[in-house]
This record gives sequence, C-alpha cells and structure tokens, in this order.
Amino acid sequence: MEYTVRPLVTQALERVLSNPEAARACQWIEEDQERCVAEQIELTQLEAPTFHEQTRALAFVAKLRAAGLTGVTLDTEGNAFGVLKSRGEGPRVLVEAHLDTVFPVGSVPPVAKRDGFLFAPGVSDNTRGLAMLLSMARAMTECRVRPRGDVVFLGSTREEGIGGMEGIRAFLRQYPGGIDASLSIDSDSIANIIYEATGFRTAEYIFHGTGGHAFGAFGQVSQPLHAAGRAVAKIADFQVPESPRTTFCVSNVHGGNDAGVHAIPPVASIKINYRSNDPGQLRILESRIDAAVEAACAEETARWQRDTVTWEKKIYCDIPAGTQDVHMPMAEGLYAVLARMGMRPVFRRGGATNASIAIAMGIPALCMGSHYSPDGKAIPTFDHTLNERFPIEGAYKGVQAALLTTLLCAGVGDQPSILEAAK
Ligand SMILES: [Zn+2]
Repeated sequence: MEYTVRPLVTQALERVLSNPEAARACQWIEEDQERCVAEQIELTQLEAPTFHEQTRALAFVAKLRAAGLTGVTLDTEGNAFGVLKSRGEGPRVLVEAHLDTVFPVGSVPPVAKRDGFLFAPGVSDNTRGLAMLLSMARAMTECRVRPRGDVVFLGSTREEGIGGMEGIRAFLRQYPGGIDASLSIDSDSIANIIYEATGFRTAEYIFHGTGGHAFGAFGQVSQPLHAAGRAVAKIADFQVPESPRTTFCVSNVHGGNDAGVHAIPPVASIKINYRSNDPGQLRILESRIDAAVEAACAEETARWQRDTVTWEKKIYCDIPAGTQDVHMPMAEGLYAVLARMGMRPVFRRGGATNASIAIAMGIPALCMGSHYSPDGKAIPTFDHTLNERFPIEGAYKGVQAALLTTLLCAGVGDQPSILEAAK
C-alpha cells in the first residue's frame, strides 16, 4: 500500500519552507558543503574507538561552541552536546550522531579523496553524522532560525559493539526536563527511514573446569574448551524464522593461551550476538542458546565422568525490540521532507541504531541516513571495513533534511510543532 502523508503535515512543511530564516538556512547549508566535508575529514582523523572517544569528543565540543550553541559541554558519560535555545514554546528535540567507530587506534590512514568519494575507516559511520550536526547548527545560528522548542545537538559515545548504545541511554535518562523527540543520523542512504528497533543481546558464556596437563590429566578432567566447541556446534545448527527476522552469531571464542598449548584450559568462553524484530522470538532464541550450552556442558561432563563443566553468562548489550506507528507525526514529517526533496523514502523494518533506545523509552524517534544518491540507487559505503567510503555529491541534502525534520518537530515561526498539532 502506498504511504500517504496527512495534509496537516505537508502544509506544515510548506510553512517551514516559507519561513524566511529556515529558507535561508537551507541555502546556507548548500553553500557550507565544502566546509562540512573538510570538518568530516578532520574529525575522521581523530580516531575514536568505542570507549576511547574523548579526543574526538573534545574537538566536537569546540566546534559546537564555535557554531554558537549554548551550554556546550561533556557529560559524565563523555557525550558532547550543546543547545540552540528557543522561545521555549515547543517540544525539546534532540538531533544526534554517535562519536565512536569500530576501528582500533592506528587503523585510520589519512583520508583519501577520489572519484567523488572520501575513503577512510569511519568516514561514513558515523563521522559524517557529526559533520552534519555541525553544519546544521551553524546554519541555524548564522541565519537566526528561532525554533519554538530547544534543539539539542549531541555527539554520543558507545553506540557501537560492546558499547551497547550506553551513551545515548545515559543522556536520555539524565537530560534535564527530558527529550520530546529524537532524530538520530547514522550511516545509511538518506532515503531509508528507521522507525523500529530490532531487539538484541550480546552475551558471553563462560565454561569452567579444573584444567590440567594435556597428557598427564587426560581422562582425569573434563575439557571446558571442548564443551564450548560442542555448544558452538549445536548453535550453528539452529533454524530461526526469516520473518520476523531473527539472527544469531557466535562472534568470539576464547580459551587457553600460547604458553598453555600443552594444557587443558580451566576456562573457555564464547560471545554470541542474537537479534530479532520480535521480542518473543528473541526470548525463545535465548532460551535455546542457554539449553545448548547446558547440554554441551552435560555431554562434556558425561564424556569423562571425573569432573564437572559449569557455565555462567554475562550480558554485554541488551536492546529491547520495539516499534512505533509508521504514521506518527515525526515519521510522516521526515517522509514528507524527503519526498519534497525528490527522493523516494522507504520505511525499513527493524533497526539497530541509537533510535532504539529512545523508542524503548517511549520517545518518538527516527534514524535517518547520511548518503545522498543522485539517481536514487543505494551507494554501498562498506561500513565497518577498512574500505569504508562516503559519496560527496549532494551530501548537503542530508543536512537540509535533518534541519527541516527538526523544525517540523520543534516548530518554527508561526508554525507549531507537528508533534503537538497532531495530538
Ligand atoms: Zn553507526
């Protein structure tokens, strides 16, 4: 079925576009493209693996301040943020991008520019998002855009991997007075709108035994690493539903060490990430994994009957599954903005972005992409690989879309927030 936007929302967008300051800001953003891309390069060069975002966060803070925001600071979680103060007549809107990347320090060479792309690990995911926030903030202050509600600009920590989206989680919990709507920007095609949260957990299963000499203790003790191997073999054979999409991945196996190549290790562990768009399926999958680990320990114990392999579980990431009404005002707003700009927006099912955390807290939230494609065909950016790249042409359109969506939510001039108007 074709997606339609209520006239209320399209009319609101036309009024935002005819607000002189907002219109000037859109033009300003186009003219700011070169500087925005230069800042993207500069920030990419400041490496920021998860848990080590501070150098980049401090640079981002300085740039937020230079953009003319107020209350610019780092919070206790290392999140960098600042506020564009409003008339205080509308909802408080957060626009955010994550500071961290998946690349260890030392893996980012100087950013290369060729064939219309920037090349470097992290240049797209999500340094582009940070550069977009800066260009948008500057446009709003330079063109004196006066939103009706405050706009909060945030560079968030610990989005990736074992960071478990803890940066935004803490920010949303702590922000004085709360956040009324949250727009995340992350690496994807601008035409893709994420309004759902795929539930996921990342767990470590740790197998314990006695350990001993590889020859001397053979047959006397059970083998925790073999128990871990049995568990992996069982999990590898799992069948899971395609719809709702449900996935599992044993991503790490640890046990023993180089000095102990002739030892039965006393401890072994596996890490596993499992996801589902449906909370019920996620629970079922988790209990199957637990059962596989339990059975693997029992089999290994029974194999020798001299020693007992035990197991424990640690949870590193715990993101609840969630969805929102695809016709909530904010979703219609972003859709209308992208369509007005000549794109063909698509609502994606599921999602694993910072928006997931806001969705879990009941805050209207979307994640929008940052790559513009002139012909509408998705351009692969090879995120999370050393070949990561970002398409430069027309990239400012993403900043304009973020600005317009934010203004629809916060309200501007005599156009009230669509969040309020639709109540
Ligand atoms: Zn990302």
